[in-house]
Amino acid sequence: MTFNDLGICDSIQKALLEEGYNNPTPIQEQSIPTLLEGTDLLASAQTGTGKTAAFAIPILQQLYLNPPQRKGPRKIKALVITPTRELAIQIAESFDTYGKYTGLNNTVIFGGVKQEAQVNALRRGVDILIATPGRLLDLMDQGYINLKNLAHFVLDEADRMLDMGFVHDIRKLIDRLPRERQSLFFSATMPPSVVELSGKILGSHPDKVEI
Ligand code: AMP
Repeated sequence: MTFNDLGICDSIQKALLEEGYNNPTPIQEQSIPTLLEGTDLLASAQTGTGKTAAFAIPILQQLYLNPPQRKGPRKIKALVITPTRELAIQIAESFDTYGKYTGLNNTVIFGGVKQEAQVNALRRGVDILIATPGRLLDLMDQGYINLKNLAHFVLDEADRMLDMGFVHDIRKLIDRLPRERQSLFFSATMPPSVVELSGKILGSHPDKVEI
């Protein structure tokens, strides 16, 4: 199996090959084709399985192949939330790597640092936003983040998010997302609290992948 077999466009394939990704991992093989069709996904997958590329590649490709009419600054079309600053930075680097020939940009926001640089990046315009929940809501409350054009939403490491006490932040955030969107939900484990949360985020017939 190759990325070509999965329907990945040349611009992204080129970046993947340069990175030494010759073949998709099992989670990529199972999830990318349906994600490219816009379905929702409930994935139980550990770190190390290639799950970041499993969500980043189809999001990049959908945005790249359906570029919005651009008037003024870029608007946020994809949002990934993840529990820690380290993960957020890693995910942003992955989007940079796989998307280097797509012209799409991203920025990362997290707490514990001054907000000024993050606000400036948001003002310049962002296609893909990667964030930790607390700072995201904070900047939303201050009016710096508009999610009206959001088409793709990813919740990464859901079980860790709940363990870290982010459940209220996540619920608040979900209420503010456009209803018409593609949602992807990743968790290493699926205890009842995580399954319950996934039901609030995903449409009624998500694809299910277990790795
Ligand atoms: P993740 O599970 O997203 O944390 O990814 C684990 C590691 O696998 C990362 O270092 C990726 O760069 C790498 N990786 C992801 N997909 C592939 C692939 N198809 N081929 C080779 N390495 C990959």
